[in-house]
Amino acid sequence: MHTCRDCNQSFQTELALELHRDTCEKGQLFCQVCGERFREGDATQDGWHYDCPNEACDGTGLQEDLFQIDDLRTATH
Ligand SMILES: [Zn+2]
Ligand SMILES: [Zn+2]
Repeated sequence: MHTCRDCNQSFQTELALELHRDTCEKGQLFCQVCGERFREGDATQDGWHYDCPNEACDGTGLQEDLFQIDDLRTATH
């Protein structure tokens, strides 16, 4: 069983999980520094200052190191 750690939905296969991760609304932020994906709420306390929730990473700032998945998609097209 593969479980999305953002929304706790479970999937039979790793592929199904991978596909879900692309559309998961609970994991829409991406850190360019460490490559982690996480919820917006995990990266900010006040909706203003954004920091990568990964302890070992010093990625910071929305549109600097942290990007919305949707913005990344449109940027690469
Ligand atoms: Zn999910
Ligand atoms: Zn990071």
